Amino acid sequence: MVRNLSRRRLASGQPIDCAGMARHISAFLDGELDHATAAAIVAHLDLCRDCPPEAAAVAALRSALRELGTPPSSSMQRLRAWIETATGAAPAGGPEPG
Ligand SMILES: [Zn+2]
Repeated sequence: MVRNLSRRRLASGQPIDCAGMARHISAFLDGELDHATAAAIVAHLDLCRDCPPEAAAVAALRSALRELGTPPSSSMQRLRAWIETATGAAPAGGPEPG
């Protein structure tokens, strides 16, 4: 439902479309966007019927991941080993075992 978008266009920013929402929603939820972009996202959420449930799902997933916390180091070592095997290359920047 974006047919009213032109009436809601912000004076200082460009209106945002669904693709733009997908690009910016993480930064929006992190509070990392400038005021104009954040306002454009809020305006789009007001007008679009598809993006609010998507945004809510992303927010819920991020919240659930936060509650899980950081995986134990043994899990991270197994993950790095699996990546190394799957890609045939050592992961960059990881601490060397030993
Ligand atoms: Zn949308």
